[in-house]
Amino acid sequence: MSVLVYAEQNEGVCRKPAFEAVTFARHTADLLGTNCIALTIGNPSNASELGSYGATEVRNISLGWSHFDNLVYAKAIADMAGEVNANVVVLGHSGQGRALAGRLAIRLQAGLVSAVNSLPELVENLIVRKSVYSGKAIASVMVKSPRSVFTIQGNSIPPAKKGTPVEVVEANVTLEESQIKVQTLASESGAISLPDAELVVSGGRGFKGPENWGILEELAEALGAATACSRPVADSGWRPHHEHVGQTGVAIRPNLYIAIGISGAIQHLGGVNNSKTIVVINKDPEAPFFKAADYGVVGDLFEVVPRLTEAVKKHKSG
Ligand SMILES: Cc1cc2nc3c(=O)[nH]c(=O)nc-3n(C[C@H](O)[C@H](O)[C@H](O)COP(=O)(O)OP(=O)(O)OC[C@H]3O[C@@H](n4cnc5c(N)ncnc54)[C@H](O)[C@@H]3O)c2cc1C
Repeated sequence: MSVLVYAEQNEGVCRKPAFEAVTFARHTADLLGTNCIALTIGNPSNASELGSYGATEVRNISLGWSHFDNLVYAKAIADMAGEVNANVVVLGHSGQGRALAGRLAIRLQAGLVSAVNSLPELVENLIVRKSVYSGKAIASVMVKSPRSVFTIQGNSIPPAKKGTPVEVVEANVTLEESQIKVQTLASESGAISLPDAELVVSGGRGFKGPENWGILEELAEALGAATACSRPVADSGWRPHHEHVGQTGVAIRPNLYIAIGISGAIQHLGGVNNSKTIVVINKDPEAPFFKAADYGVVGDLFEVVPRLTEAVKKHKSG
């Protein structure tokens, strides 16, 4: 019996989602009195650091290519789960994790709980929690199948150090050839990744048009925050679709979400209401978003936002 955690990498490095997943996996292994084994694919440069978050072993599968292929990865992770006799497999609730989890659950004949957002408990079986009904309720799920697969919602389990770096061992797993051929790969450079961001500044239709986005970007830059938007803003082409948050967009869970000129429709709240602190700026005191806000400013965004940016800059300059 063991707990296997797939520690995904991004551009050759394991990042926060991997450390969050290992923290969850290690806690699960402690509850079950077993080992936490981390698996990396493609030699991330800091794989040994996974030991500092509680992985007792780190195994790596080398790749002859650099892109993600969920068919090949799912088989490799399932093979590894078989080799280490894993009864729990943990992944991040990222694009990769979501693509892999269902396939793994089928391959392993395991119960699957996705978007888990707290550490597990053990009462006869493992019990995990997740948000349901667009964040309006929390479900406790007990997994009764002998094997389980969990994906871990980003920014919900703080990575906790426990242990020291461990040597990375090359795994004895043969990868199939990928059927996917990638011709070009273009990634946004410099921008903060929205799902991983701890601070997010988001704008809605209250901005009136894309030409006014500069004041939002200035605030985001002053704070070191990622930028996001409501769906109609993306649908209108004011902002790229990958910035759209909500029920049909990216679900986020930052420490701070600043919603500017966004009404707070239920479909928007569904993707953001797990943020730790929500600040709403809206000129309409009846805007529904104020009901979900920790702090609210009733005012015209074109006056409030530049003043907020100035205050942040002044505060940061000491
Ligand atoms: C099936 C379905 C799925 C959906 N999924 C999503 C989703 O994932 N994400 C999402 O965002 N939406 C989603 N929507 C759309 C959602 O219902 C709302 O229509 C949308 O969120 C509204 O966007 P908004 O708040 O930017 O615009 P509006 O509702 O037009 O609100 C604009 C707000 O700006 C304020 N405002 C205007 N001028 C100013 C000013 N000068 N200063 C300050 N405040 C000002 C107004 O008071 C208003 O509250 C979905 C809808 C459906 C039917």
